Amino acid sequence: MLTTQEQLKYSRQIMMGKIGEQGQIALRNAKVLIVGVGGLGNPVSLYLAAAGVGTLYLADGDNIELSNLPRQIQFDEQDINQNKADVAAEKLSTQFPDSNIEAIDEMLDQELCDYYVPQVDLVLDCSDNIQTRYLINQACVTHTVPLVIGAATGFDGQQLLVDPRNKDSACYHCLFPTSLKAPTNNCQTLGILGPVLAIIGGMQALQAIKVLTADGSENNVQINKLNLYDGLANQWQQFNMKKQQNCNVCGNK
Ligand SMILES: [Zn+2]
Repeated sequence: MLTTQEQLKYSRQIMMGKIGEQGQIALRNAKVLIVGVGGLGNPVSLYLAAAGVGTLYLADGDNIELSNLPRQIQFDEQDINQNKADVAAEKLSTQFPDSNIEAIDEMLDQELCDYYVPQVDLVLDCSDNIQTRYLINQACVTHTVPLVIGAATGFDGQQLLVDPRNKDSACYHCLFPTSLKAPTNNCQTLGILGPVLAIIGGMQALQAIKVLTADGSENNVQINKLNLYDGLANQWQQFNMKKQQNCNVCGNK
């Protein structure tokens, strides 16, 4: 049951048929891990806390730098040299006292993945490097936890959902079996604009809410779709993906 205060606060979400009171309760009960609290993790964590997600774990080993501020909109100049997860958790806890926000102030490694991933209902990959993306993808497949991946550089972004609860779902490794084929450009080499991160991060948060509130009666959760955004042309493109039966991570499971 939602309290009267919660019914009022989240009324505009609850009135949507696909969310409803059950969906709002599901959000309140949800535990979500956000890996990377930079340009994507900032909007993602804000929108999920604002929507009423009950528990957020924020993982990031980096400290805030001056060049982060044009796009990492939770941070200001007073925060420079402090850990991103710590600062974001503190600010979000003040803004959204109903949510339990915990900081993991180090780079996610295998051990941390195996500790946190089985505890959560969903993981969001908001990291900026391919090694971390492979690590999270493997952990989510191993522990059967849905994963919403986002990435952006320059004017471009990509987003996809990996849902190992569905045996037909492709994983990130199906798409890029070797890191040689995976995009390796990053914001340090290609630059990035804040609004592109807001678009991709917003789409990740939307996917996360749909996954967390899905009641199973309708398929609003789309697996095997790679969504690419071109911010210069102002266009989305969607490509079909297929689970690779010989995938080293998810194949023959
Ligand atoms: Zn795979």
